[in-house]
Amino acid sequence: MVRKHAVLMASCVRLAVGALGVALGSAAAASDAFPSKPIVLVVPFAAGGPTDVVARALGQAMSKDLGQSVVVENRLGAGGTVAAAFVARAQPDGYTILIHHNGMATAPALYKKLSYDPLKDFDYIGQVADVPMTMLGKKDLPPNNAAELVKYVKDNKDKVTLANAGLGAVSQLCGLLFEEAVGVKMTAIPYQGTGPAMTALLGGQVDLLCDQTTSTLPQIAAHRVKMYGVTTPARIKALPNSPTLDEQGVKGFSMKVWHGVYAPKGTPPAVTARLTKALQQGLKDPVVAKRLDELGAEIVPVEKQTPAGLQTWLKAESGKWQPLLKTMKVEAP
Ligand code: ASP
Repeated sequence: MVRKHAVLMASCVRLAVGALGVALGSAAAASDAFPSKPIVLVVPFAAGGPTDVVARALGQAMSKDLGQSVVVENRLGAGGTVAAAFVARAQPDGYTILIHHNGMATAPALYKKLSYDPLKDFDYIGQVADVPMTMLGKKDLPPNNAAELVKYVKDNKDKVTLANAGLGAVSQLCGLLFEEAVGVKMTAIPYQGTGPAMTALLGGQVDLLCDQTTSTLPQIAAHRVKMYGVTTPARIKALPNSPTLDEQGVKGFSMKVWHGVYAPKGTPPAVTARLTKALQQGLKDPVVAKRLDELGAEIVPVEKQTPAGLQTWLKAESGKWQPLLKTMKVEAP
């Protein structure tokens, strides 16, 4: 009886081990085969803007390492939250991933009904690059420097228009910080990305736009806009002769954009690890490094190009911006 029981137990164990082997084997096979088709990299803003520029450079370089195309898909709307919600609900198989900026940290404080939680509904691939911003005016706006701009904004109050890429866009955040520093509200005009916002500024339909150097440097170099200052505490390499806003009296002004790549929660760890490797390899590509450098973007150190690097950073940024935005009582739709 005892012997019979032992034999039965042994065959059960063999069966279980066999099943586990099959399961592990097929999971390994699935991630070994990854990627077996093109990957969609979702960009939350319009084509031609700063997030799109970084995404296209990165996507091309990642595709070299992955041996599959990385196709950029622009999903616009609601300051980047439409795209983030889309990726949060996508199949967690690594074939739909998201690139986003500070908006991942700010949206929960700005939107009453956000359908995703940036800290719970994603797996993290890694950070990409940091980008400073510049405050620009349309070419014929009267002020010639930040001090004159502050006076002009105060004298003209809500007649001054400020373009942005929607509630939760970094252009909007920069505008909010500027209004807070100056103590005056301007009229915000939302677009679906910096691409269309910049077209409006160049066409003279709006007065101001604060945005990433990835889009603003070419316009500054061609003298198509007025440049009022860099948003970082120190001057930047790409614009050594342009003073910061802080230097010109907008004391303490500090704003920098960061980008991260995300996958839907539940993506197999082997797949996220493969994507992280491709991201790191992509950022080593000299063509990408040169392109980003020319646009004022700074590739983050390799320890930030990791899931833990992005997750830690997102937590810290959420803790920094969300209480501030709540005290600023920004209108939620
Ligand atoms: N720079 C944008 C923002 O203000 C969006 C974009 O990349 O087009 O968030």
